[in-house]
Amino acid sequence: MDGLLEGKETDKRKWIYPLIRKGKLYKWRSWISYVYLILFFSVPFMRINGQPVLLLNFMERHFVLLGQVFWPQDIFLFVLATLVFIVCIVLFTIAFGRIFCGWICPQTIFMEMFFRKIENWIEGDTHKQKKLNAAPWNPEKIVKKVGKHVLFVFFSFCIANTFLAYLVGSESLIKIITEPVNQHWSGFLSIWVFTIVFYLVYSQVRELVCTVICPYGRLQGVLLDQDTLVVAYEEVRGEPRGKLDKIIDPDHLKGDCVDCGLCVAVCPTGIDIRQGTQMECVNCTACIDVCNEVMVKINKPLNLIGFYSENMIHKRQKPSFTGRMAGYSGIIVVLITVLSYFIFSRGDMDITVMRSAGMLYQDQPGGYISNVYNAEIINKSNTGRDISIKTDDPAIKVKYIQAPGKVPAGGSVKTVFFLLIPASQIRAPKTDVKLSLMLDKKVQKTISTSFVGPIND
Ligand code: SF4
Ligand code: SF4
Repeated sequence: MDGLLEGKETDKRKWIYPLIRKGKLYKWRSWISYVYLILFFSVPFMRINGQPVLLLNFMERHFVLLGQVFWPQDIFLFVLATLVFIVCIVLFTIAFGRIFCGWICPQTIFMEMFFRKIENWIEGDTHKQKKLNAAPWNPEKIVKKVGKHVLFVFFSFCIANTFLAYLVGSESLIKIITEPVNQHWSGFLSIWVFTIVFYLVYSQVRELVCTVICPYGRLQGVLLDQDTLVVAYEEVRGEPRGKLDKIIDPDHLKGDCVDCGLCVAVCPTGIDIRQGTQMECVNCTACIDVCNEVMVKINKPLNLIGFYSENMIHKRQKPSFTGRMAGYSGIIVVLITVLSYFIFSRGDMDITVMRSAGMLYQDQPGGYISNVYNAEIINKSNTGRDISIKTDDPAIKVKYIQAPGKVPAGGSVKTVFFLLIPASQIRAPKTDVKLSLMLDKKVQKTISTSFVGPIND
């Protein structure tokens, strides 16, 4: 398994063995990753007022965010929220480049701060890994490789389970795990498909996710401009680069870059930042850390590689809030205002009503005409509610075939009922009827539906 791809250099791919150096920024990234990992594994099991903190059940179109339940009727809120998120990412990228990728993106966090650490723990540092991959199979190599891949599969399995919990909820996940497999085939298969995908991503595909697959990386060319702060090499200061030679050149009259190559050695995407801003740079800042180590040793100012914009390096301009950033900020403010209005003005209860398909009207005793309706009542609140349906006209009766009863918190119920209208009151083939959803005599929601009946002469 291991010898098939890992460590092999092909025409298409150079296997990358990034050196890990624990500089100041690496330590910050590690702390962020610990918080991130704790949140990732615990959020699906956390509750607010009995509802999950986050549930993204696309299959049943049931979403929960911070304990607030969203149903298909609220899909426009999700679309708006997604739009806000996308514009925020665009603004953030215009201002700070791809720093999201290096510091927050789950792919980088899991790869660099979790699986890479396991790999280094088992196989040793870069040099030992290269040696191990080049060595013939022997007991030590077998133990290390099998050990590493068993752990990779195990943690991929844990991630897959947690990921599924975000999609189906922790209770459903526990059922999938604890109940017989034949009752949960789709859940069982999903876990293993996700496990295989995560395992392949972290053991084989790795940085290619960021450099080839991820569409966000490809957008950099469009989003970055001369004022974007990115991880950059201050070439004005660094060039002409050259080795430090205290005998021939005691004052080191060259640029500050001593061409040690460490910034390339630590790069998880294998690029040389001294060649300028590149699409493959995920702004992980590993090269800043290692170059600062070198600058300390050769007694030069820090941040030969640092967060700079083109204009900072070449025009000595300070970072500024550009018109482009102001434009996107304005769009975000408008979108958030609209989104907040819809969120705070939406009711706790909702109802959808459909007249039964294929049925026109029925003659009922007492001179009434009836229509049959199917309704779904949704309770977005955190408490169960006893609901009834009424009409605004006292002459119109509601007769349940299947009463709604109590609608559970964050749940929905289906109900079937007749509307009965005195035949003498029907004046047109279609009559508009207003239906109200009642809770303790209080109207929660009013909707209109149509009633078909015979035309009276
Ligand atoms: S780490 Fe710094 S000094 Fe070394 S090659 Fe890179 S830029 Fe030059
Ligand atoms: S160039 Fe530097 S910041 Fe960019 S990916 Fe490589 S190490 Fe990370």
